[in-house]
Amino acid sequence: MYFNIPTKIYFEDDVLKKQGHEIGKYGKKALLVAGRSSAEKSGVLRDLLPILDSLGIKYVYFNEIMENPEISIVEKGKELFQEQNCDMVIAIGGGSPMDAGKAISLMAANNLSAQNLFDVNNHKKAFPIITIPTTSGTGSEVTQYSVLNNAKTNTKAGFGSELMFSRVSFLDPKYTESLSDTVTRDTAIDALSHLLEGLYSNKYNEFLQPFIYSGVKLIYDNLSHCIAAMPKGENQVQRKGRKSLMLASNYGGIVIAHTSTTLQHSIGYPLTTSYGVSHGLANGLVMKQIMNLYEPHIKDRLDNLFGYLKISKLDFFKWLDTLEMSLEQKITETFLQEKVPEVMKSRNMAFNPCPVSENEIINIYNSL
Ligand code: NAP
Ligand code: ZN
Repeated sequence: MYFNIPTKIYFEDDVLKKQGHEIGKYGKKALLVAGRSSAEKSGVLRDLLPILDSLGIKYVYFNEIMENPEISIVEKGKELFQEQNCDMVIAIGGGSPMDAGKAISLMAANNLSAQNLFDVNNHKKAFPIITIPTTSGTGSEVTQYSVLNNAKTNTKAGFGSELMFSRVSFLDPKYTESLSDTVTRDTAIDALSHLLEGLYSNKYNEFLQPFIYSGVKLIYDNLSHCIAAMPKGENQVQRKGRKSLMLASNYGGIVIAHTSTTLQHSIGYPLTTSYGVSHGLANGLVMKQIMNLYEPHIKDRLDNLFGYLKISKLDFFKWLDTLEMSLEQKITETFLQEKVPEVMKSRNMAFNPCPVSENEIINIYNSL
């Protein structure tokens, strides 16, 4: 068995005010990598900038990361990092800015381009990476992965390097209170996918079981409250719910850092690149089908999980139905011809608990 998460995690209310001084250990000039507006909307910038000023840390704000970060923009971030003589990355946002920030650090340290970034032989060093999540979904703050989009090839693919673990991550549930209901649901479903795929993966180990069980329970018990029509912010149920989802998301990251993801993620990437479906929703759309496909091979693990939750698989499926996840578009023949072979070749396929055929993938797509 094996367990290793080299990231120092601070998780508390007002985390930056209480622990932000730690950033001073890592560098003197930061590239702040963010999406268009979430670093502001979430309140992170309001808390962070005075701390950087008080520590004498200079910064450059790069807020051009869009959802499903484009590799050419990541390359632009690397150039800015180098031109401005930065010496650390502070990535603020959901998985997209965190993944982009991690890749920028690696690219800048090894002077890599979009063409040679994915070759692990080129990964010799990285600048310190600090992460501040504003969604509760990807767990990217504690994983060694970065998932990038390539518009030229219409593909989305991840890669991993131990060098991309963030040195320190600051988690504060209040930064997720500005999320829309849709992003809250989709990101929580992404976290749920990570936890379940950790259980399914052929790299599962028992160190991970407490994270998986608790994480699934936190989402099952709290997601519906967070997206129900109720006042945001001050409401205690919301507060507890937001904390629970952030914890579950972090657990999911800890899990996939060890197990990787499986077919459930591979099958979702083409739904994002071809139909614009969000990452979490893409996983949610196929969650039941994947569970049914894997069940004969991991039946004990699944029975034990549902025993812990004190529900049946059918109860779980009914709960998923209440989240109203559906695909607006129709899957086309051209999509299947182009994307099924791509799914078969993806790296996550190595971690399925059983062999999976092209036909099984086609059947899942056709069930949407
Ligand atoms: P995201 O793409 O980072 O953000 C989704 C949307 O939410 C964006 O419009 C963003 O706005 C907005 N947003 C984020 N935080 C907000 C806040 N606090 N208030 C209001 N709006 C906010 O979403 P994500 O689901 O967290 O990340 C998905 C990406 O992560 C995918 O590319 C996926 O492949 C990747 N991923 C990585 C890992 C890993 O281990 N590295 C694991 C799973 C998934 P802005 O545009 O302004 O930021
Ligand atoms: Zn994911």
